[in-house]
Amino acid sequence: MPEARNTIIDLSRLALAHGEGRRLELPVELEPFELGGQTYLADPAAPPARLEVSRPSGGYALHLTFAVHLEGPCMRCLEDAGLDLEVEAREIDQTGTEDPELHSPYVADQELDIGRWAHDAAMLALPTRVLCRPDCAGLCPVCGVSLNDADPADHEHGGGADPRWAALRDLKLE
Ligand SMILES: [Zn+2]
Ligand SMILES: [Zn+2]
Repeated sequence: MPEARNTIIDLSRLALAHGEGRRLELPVELEPFELGGQTYLADPAAPPARLEVSRPSGGYALHLTFAVHLEGPCMRCLEDAGLDLEVEAREIDQTGTEDPELHSPYVADQELDIGRWAHDAAMLALPTRVLCRPDCAGLCPVCGVSLNDADPADHEHGGGADPRWAALRDLKLE
């Protein structure tokens, strides 16, 4: 049985009066992250998060913080890589105004889509590339072997010519 997903929070159930606030601690299930053509998964899938909800006046102010560990392939060598993110995000949802800046895209009818919000916030906190280590040497462009544990001399491949092109030339000459 999969665990119940904590992705929607009914803010009206908190029954906050204007000026009141509430702090919630809850696990938030995170969908997989797509980055640079690779997929990264949160481990655990539902990291514990802290949500602070307050009602300054006629609306909600929301503050979300959580730490998440992601696992997925190194973008250079495709070996396993992991990274830790500290995520912090704030949203305002104000009633009685048309200003889109004051309407959170994650709140509708007093329901907070914390799953989507947390996912987007973590996405913004991601680095542009995920590497197994900062100096990952990547894959040999000729044979595709990881160069991290290889002797570079073994991957000169006869001066750097791509053997696939050589094979193609041979084919044309026949
Ligand atoms: Zn790597
Ligand atoms: Zn090689």
